[in-house]
Amino acid sequence: MTKTLMILPGDGIGPEIMAEAEKVIFWMNEQCGLDLEIQRGLIGGQAYDAYGQPLADETLAQCRKADAILMGAVGGPKWDNVEYTLRPESGLLKLRKALDLFANLRPALVFDALVDASTLKPEIVRGLDILIVRELTGGVYFGQPRGIEDLGNGERRGVNTQVYTTSEIRRVGRVAFELARKRSGKVHSCEKANVMESGKLWREDITALHAEAYTDVQLEHMYADNCAMQLLRNPSQFDVIVTDNLFGDILSDEAAMLTGSLGMLPSASLGAPDAPGLYEPVHGSAPDIAGLGKANPLATILSFSMALRYSLERGDLADMLEKAVQKILNDGTRTADIAGDTHTPISTAQMGDAVIEALCAA
Ligand code: NAD
Repeated sequence: MTKTLMILPGDGIGPEIMAEAEKVIFWMNEQCGLDLEIQRGLIGGQAYDAYGQPLADETLAQCRKADAILMGAVGGPKWDNVEYTLRPESGLLKLRKALDLFANLRPALVFDALVDASTLKPEIVRGLDILIVRELTGGVYFGQPRGIEDLGNGERRGVNTQVYTTSEIRRVGRVAFELARKRSGKVHSCEKANVMESGKLWREDITALHAEAYTDVQLEHMYADNCAMQLLRNPSQFDVIVTDNLFGDILSDEAAMLTGSLGMLPSASLGAPDAPGLYEPVHGSAPDIAGLGKANPLATILSFSMALRYSLERGDLADMLEKAVQKILNDGTRTADIAGDTHTPISTAQMGDAVIEALCAA
């Protein structure tokens, strides 16, 4: 059955990197019977310029009907002075919220050919393949009460509330256990059960869910601060890490940096099984290199690979695409961000062409 992919290139380098992902999509449609219908829309500053808002309701409606959404990046200095709720980033937040995308998947994968890009020693990061599952729609970023109040005596008080319910914990826990089943079968659940009631509930609910339905998966609990330390000390002990919104924000950035290259990092945000997944590179719109043909399109191409795996039921094509990326990296093909001192950088479009060439040769 034909599936639909909604493409939202966004701002800055967004259109450049998306053009390369589209090369892969067209190739797979023609050569592998992918049969993916493409629709396009505006998000971020582009949408603000066209419609006066960073995500128009019609675009959101189109996104809802799609099987998956592939986004480039949003934002840039042109919109720095736009009112907060109309800024490009608000379009992305609106999309995540409207689709209730509660599970954010951030792989930290170290390609052998890029092992030297990490600031950690090669022997620590070689072969690293971690998947962080971060709860995305609850916790301290959304909890009430929140705000800053004037105490009237020259003092002010800032308040945020860390709050989780059992159903919020269980649904993201389920995503992590299901993913672990398809990987090496190990989940680390991270919180601060030693000092936070929400962490204690998190630990109890994850333990209960595990006992009910996932005893085939190995579960370990870890305090989030220890996890931050272990990620640097011995990252290969981890496979899937599930954690809340705040700790996930920090731990996923830390794990990402183990790989050393922002232009290589994909992500997925998933909601209910019938909701479309949102796939996007971790990096932003890189206004400093926009339009120069220097951007690395691999994070976007690998985000499409995640869409193939998690929303489009074509894990076979995801495997093929990831192998093609691995091959071109082994061959020394590099954009400027990963070229280091030893490789001659190629352009964004040349990198896309190299992926197609590797796919043709597979
Ligand atoms: P950024 O990720 O855009 O750029 C940080 C640095 O990494 C820059 O030097 C950039 O040139 C480089 N870089 C990023 N992606 C690259 C790629 N694919 N290839 C090569 N180099 C790459 O972060 P920033 O500069 O802090 O933010 C720029 C804009 O992006 C801001 O408006 C910010 O709000 C927005 N932003 C958007 C998202 C998103 O759309 N999800 C995420 C982060 C930042």
